[in-house]
Amino acid sequence: MIVMSGAEVAAKLEAELKVEAQAWRAQGRVATLAAVQVGDDPASSSYVRSKLKMAERIGIITRGVHLPADVEQARVEAEIQRLNEDPSVHGILCQLPLPGRMDARAVTNRIAPQKDVDGLTAASAGLLAQGTPSFVPCTPAGILLMLTHYGIRTAGRTAVVIGRSNIVGRPLSILLSLPGWDATVVLCHSRTPDLKEHARRAEILVAAVGKPEFVTADMVREGATVIDVGINRVPDPARPKGYRLCGDVDYARVAPHCGAITPVPGGVGLMTVAVLMQNTLHAVRLQQG
Ligand code: NDP
Repeated sequence: MIVMSGAEVAAKLEAELKVEAQAWRAQGRVATLAAVQVGDDPASSSYVRSKLKMAERIGIITRGVHLPADVEQARVEAEIQRLNEDPSVHGILCQLPLPGRMDARAVTNRIAPQKDVDGLTAASAGLLAQGTPSFVPCTPAGILLMLTHYGIRTAGRTAVVIGRSNIVGRPLSILLSLPGWDATVVLCHSRTPDLKEHARRAEILVAAVGKPEFVTADMVREGATVIDVGINRVPDPARPKGYRLCGDVDYARVAPHCGAITPVPGGVGLMTVAVLMQNTLHAVRLQQG
């Protein structure tokens, strides 16, 4: 059984991106990533911190734009517009979730398509759906990089993706079905009857549900590749932070049946951040013309 290490694949990508960022610098282009955060949700703050940290290690300049939780949506959109018009900023991300009263889709869609490093605007999603992606959402792109790194073939195989969010499940299902990846894809969600039967047929099973240990051993085909996207905080008073991180897969019981599996933490999450950096350098390339 292979444990697919996000740390290993992300470190390799990070080293490559460092070289690329330096090459751009040598040409007078200093890659710059702006991160917009609204409010102080601790998980969001921790994600933004790890993104900005990796950017700095690679040599990407960062701009953090932190707005209070009670800010008007119009002000958030105005900040994004300001960053759109700033030629020194190549990539813009807006950390989700936004406060519930805001229209997250409208805010995200304010990001200029050529700066959409999270790949979440309607323009990016449309290109992906047409099979000609520009910016691909970071988590699905990171999953494909891990599959490639570990030599896991997708062509001709049955891939079952559980979860149809715009950030993970839906774009991943499209990517896996594109020529080149050539998987036969089943996209499951909360209204899927017989979910277990679908999952048991998967040669590649992806869990992006947001429910701790949702995927149990009896849902997994012997020898399957299992990708655990979930990052769940489970209360645990014995831990210094009062919680432990846990995926959407019951790792201890599922792993013995797998051909390959991603751990949580140390799996897909690290890839998400690394691909954001890759997308930022893609943005530099696009804006270079
Ligand atoms: P969402 O809540 O947006 O989507 C969850 C999906 O799971 C929905 O499509 C929902 O179906 C489906 N679902 C919920 N319950 C069930 C069920 N009982 N049976 C089948 N399907 C179900 O979550 P995200 O996609 O944003 O995130 C999923 C998980 O991945 C979370 O734990 C999140 O923290 C993590 N995550 C990790 C990242 C990483 O870098 N590793 C990046 C992004 C997310 P329906 O549409 O019908 O409601």
